[in-house]
Amino acid sequence: HAPPAVLTLSNVEVLYAEVILALKGVSMQIPEGGCVALLGANGAGKSTTLKAISGVIDSEDGRVSGGAITFDGRPIQGHDPATVVRSGLVHVMEGRRVLQHMTVEQNLIIGGHMFPSTQAMRRAMDSVYQAIPRLAELRKRTAGYLSGGEQQMLVIGRAIMAEPKLMLIDEPSLGLAPRMVEDVFAVLHHLREQGLSLLIVEQNTRVVLEIADYGYVMESGRIVLEGQAQALRDNEDVREFYLGLD
Ligand code: ATP
Repeated sequence: HAPPAVLTLSNVEVLYAEVILALKGVSMQIPEGGCVALLGANGAGKSTTLKAISGVIDSEDGRVSGGAITFDGRPIQGHDPATVVRSGLVHVMEGRRVLQHMTVEQNLIIGGHMFPSTQAMRRAMDSVYQAIPRLAELRKRTAGYLSGGEQQMLVIGRAIMAEPKLMLIDEPSLGLAPRMVEDVFAVLHHLREQGLSLLIVEQNTRVVLEIADYGYVMESGRIVLEGQAQALRDNEDVREFYLGLD
């Protein structure tokens, strides 16, 4: 029998600028400890879905205009992003925004601003280094000089400073060389094995369906298809039509 859901979306609608209905009733579930892929073409509404969940949609003149979002058994729609992070849900946005002139360690410290004491923050930092050893090697390096893959690991590390239960991550492979994509997904795989639940938005369908157990495909603000990752990988029509695989 299935593990309980850590995150549930029921018929979620998002309205931008009070006129553009970008999500038209999206429903999905992330099981506790699960890894779910959110797929679809540009403009389908994948990033909007993540922003609705984490609450950052507000700062983009958007709002959840219908439906319900439940995290860890509690409704979270309309909560501000800081409250959502404190409840154990982090959102790693597209674009790998590191603080360019600061070191890896300083970037992590900024992710740990919520800790009540330096010791607690140190402990969190050590657990990040344990989870992503590459960051420990790079700790004194200036973030702006890291490779794309290393910067992606850094933003993931900064997010796990918040000791989350669920991570939403938007296009982790964007613009990375294939080798780096593998390294970043190895990090995600490892975090997942340590119990983190994951919702991953990815254009790189092939690589994300290797680590996900389940996938949803979006088109024009709706879920048009869902299923076990294995089944999505194997279904010929799905591969061609929705996922662009041949
Ligand atoms: P991409 O991979 O290109 O980010 P996506 O599937 O994540 O695509 P969204 O970015 O969620 O798609 O966009 C969904 C729809 O909402 C698009 O039609 C987009 O133009 C629109 N949209 C996104 N952000 C805003 C905004 N701030 N104001 C108005 N419309 C927006």
